[in-house]
Amino acid sequence: MAQGQGWTNWAGRVTCTPQAVASPADERALAAAIRAATGPVRVAGSGHSFTPIVATDGLLLDLKHLSGLIAADPLRQTARLGAGTKIHQIGRALFDMGLNLKNQGDIDRQAIAGALATATHGTGAQLPCLAAELASFRLVTAEGEVLDCSPTQNADVFAGGRVALGLLGVLSEVTLKVDPAYRLKEQTFVAPIAEVLRDLATYRLHHRHFEFFWFPWSDMAAVKILEPTEDPAPEPMTPEQMRARGELMTGDQQAFQAGCEIARFVPQVTPILHRLFTQGATGRTKVRWAHEIFPSPRTVRFNEMEYALPWERGAECLSEIVTGLRARKIWTSFPIEFRFVRQDDLWLSPFYERDAVTLSVHQYYKQDETALFTFCEEVFRRYDGRPHWGKLHTLKAKDLANLYPRFEDFRALRRRLDPKGRFMTPYLAGLMGENGHV
Ligand SMILES: Cc1cc2nc3c(=O)[nH]c(=O)nc-3n(C[C@H](O)[C@H](O)[C@H](O)COP(=O)(O)OP(=O)(O)OC[C@H]3O[C@@H](n4cnc5c(N)ncnc54)[C@H](O)[C@@H]3O)c2cc1C
Repeated sequence: MAQGQGWTNWAGRVTCTPQAVASPADERALAAAIRAATGPVRVAGSGHSFTPIVATDGLLLDLKHLSGLIAADPLRQTARLGAGTKIHQIGRALFDMGLNLKNQGDIDRQAIAGALATATHGTGAQLPCLAAELASFRLVTAEGEVLDCSPTQNADVFAGGRVALGLLGVLSEVTLKVDPAYRLKEQTFVAPIAEVLRDLATYRLHHRHFEFFWFPWSDMAAVKILEPTEDPAPEPMTPEQMRARGELMTGDQQAFQAGCEIARFVPQVTPILHRLFTQGATGRTKVRWAHEIFPSPRTVRFNEMEYALPWERGAECLSEIVTGLRARKIWTSFPIEFRFVRQDDLWLSPFYERDAVTLSVHQYYKQDETALFTFCEEVFRRYDGRPHWGKLHTLKAKDLANLYPRFEDFRALRRRLDPKGRFMTPYLAGLMGENGHV
């Protein structure tokens, strides 16, 4: 166990100095480290959450040695992974077994357990968040006990623990349901936002993956559709190429960053930039294996807020947000991202028993996000929005209890598994209504 050094999240907004940092060699060492810890125990995935959900002044765990594809079963269509496996490490390894993840988000930098813990999702009206594809997991508890959890073993822990913010214990292994390897054809195009919003129900019905980006000062939206195809795809990249690709500062990203820097000092240029950025997204078609086509490099840093809303109200909410931003001259260089996610039965999932639209707003990391996020959050809440656990929001336990029907069940499960609050920090106590917080 090493003396702790400073830790910072991807966006640079959250920092902490843990007493100790440990990278256990295996599950047994992980259990021993948890048992021996004196302060709050947290695991860092890739630090891609915007909230202080990882931060601790106690023990910070890094699961880099509990990573990689352990086994894949093409017949049962399952993949067993070390919890610390980065998503970009999964694609090629699974592909070589004739398999692909069922869906992915915008990037592949996260650790799989980190992505599962916050209900990370991609887009697709028939596709749930990643955690809904869990077949089983192994959980190391506060006492260092290892629980096998599935619909038939420790079923209550499985039910409540698939999205758990690292509050029930540390996942050491996860088994995901996967699909036979598949190719997707990507089509991107620019269309008037009024037409995109008018045709949403059709897009939702007819495409496996549909999303769009609306730069709020443009009247056009950049649409992205992915459809399964039998068309040929290039030979997939090596694992090393996949790792490197996500960190690449492309020409597009360089131009975008330059725009963010100009708009930071002269925000009045934002409407012009928004029209330029939207035009830059125009007309592209390509075919790739699934794991290569989902992620894009995101090298221009930002802070983000995202809420999941009942899908039928997504367009109305988005329109209200954009009208409000324009009227108030609240500036951001970034687009608002609109995605579909299918409902699930995960207690802390923003998609619990509700087909959803997610709306994500971003602010360049060098700019204050307060005005943007305060305004948007007030609107999201009027639409019964549920916040993404990894993205910025101001909700506390009493708000969350009204939004998540199984919130009290989760709290009871957490108290049973971790009565001494070994995984609890002040930030998480605020979310859970513990230690004097409501
Ligand atoms: C550029 C960017 C793009 C993004 N795109 C998307 C997107 O498309 N869709 C989406 O939904 N979200 C997206 N996110 C949000 C991101 O997916 C989530 O915040 C995710 O949780 C980050 O994963 P991580 O591995 O970095 O985890 P961290 O942020 O490091 O940790 C998240 C939580 O997981 C816990 N955790 C980690 N490992 C374990 C473990 N082994 N056992 C128990 N708990 C554990 C941590 O303690 C913490 O509570 C994006 C974020 C960024 C910065």
